[in-house]
Amino acid sequence: MSTVTPKRPAVRRQKRPTAPFMPELVFFEPNALNYPKGERIMEWVKSNNIPYRMTTSHNRITNLPGETESEQYKIAKRTLVVGLRKTLTFDQSKPSADYAIPIATGCMGHCHYCYLQTTLGAKPYIRVYVNTDDVMDAAKKYIEERSPEITTFEAACTSDPLGLEHITGSLEELINFMAKEPLGRLRFVTKYQHVDPLLKLQHNGHTRIRFSVNADYVIKNFEPATARFEERIEAAGKVARAGYPLGFIIAPIIWHDGWQEGYAELLSKLAEALPPEAGKGLTFEMIQHRFTKTAKTVIEKRYPKSKLEMDIEKRKKKWGRWGQNKYVYPDEQQTALREFITERIFEHFPEGKIDYFT
Ligand code: SF4
Repeated sequence: MSTVTPKRPAVRRQKRPTAPFMPELVFFEPNALNYPKGERIMEWVKSNNIPYRMTTSHNRITNLPGETESEQYKIAKRTLVVGLRKTLTFDQSKPSADYAIPIATGCMGHCHYCYLQTTLGAKPYIRVYVNTDDVMDAAKKYIEERSPEITTFEAACTSDPLGLEHITGSLEELINFMAKEPLGRLRFVTKYQHVDPLLKLQHNGHTRIRFSVNADYVIKNFEPATARFEERIEAAGKVARAGYPLGFIIAPIIWHDGWQEGYAELLSKLAEALPPEAGKGLTFEMIQHRFTKTAKTVIEKRYPKSKLEMDIEKRKKKWGRWGQNKYVYPDEQQTALREFITERIFEHFPEGKIDYFT
């Protein structure tokens, strides 16, 4: 009898798919329940046994638990507020689109660099709006005003709406609406993979879905609580096969040790993983990392261990649209990043188009 223990075959552990977002606490504004979407979300909340409370206004949501700012922030990011969108004047959304179309504010992702940390101030919880019809009526007016020009709307300026789609269904409504607008176009960007409910929609090519991608170093170090790169790319393949216009946003582009290898690998992995139909009409947007002094202070409090480099001495000051200086890379570094990544894009996607580098 042999005394040698047979070796077990090496088992490759399958990584679990990134789960759809589940809030830990939900607040409803009372008016929200007068809308079918509000009712639907309430049913979903009850069927998932999620605790909920009523609130008169999202401005009244204070005293969330947590001892430190970082703890309170984490809890806020798992808190959902269901209400009405009151402001129906849309912000501009250059360079990605003409206007920002508001369907949600706040996000469950924990990207260290995210600008929502400062723009949402003391309200980092996630707000979703049930009066999408009002939002679409307002969009229609903007389209009419700009006719015969095409008007584009960005749905991801203040959130990652795909990560909330299983709760709201708002993207589905917007895609269906925009499909019937000869002069209207929708676009949104995501770091999640839950595209399946959108694949069957009759979009008429009027919605461009973009995935936010980055060098491995950036995704691993700065993007907790988002889908893995492979999941995003698999979803991009599905979107391309469903005939949607597809794009990638490489943002924020971060100068780090080995950035050339990192970004070269990113583009070659994209080319390997995407189906041939994805290459046609593919767009790329490139945004270098930037921060304001306020953002730096907030990020250092919320993610004290972050490796995110925010050394003002190493950056170039640029006047920001919102009245605050922002810090970008010095010209030489910007040019190196832009040229290198552009070359890699055209090497792998000769038919691709670069919308902008900023
Ligand atoms: S996924 Fe997008 S919106 Fe959400 S935290 Fe990350 S960068 Fe911000």
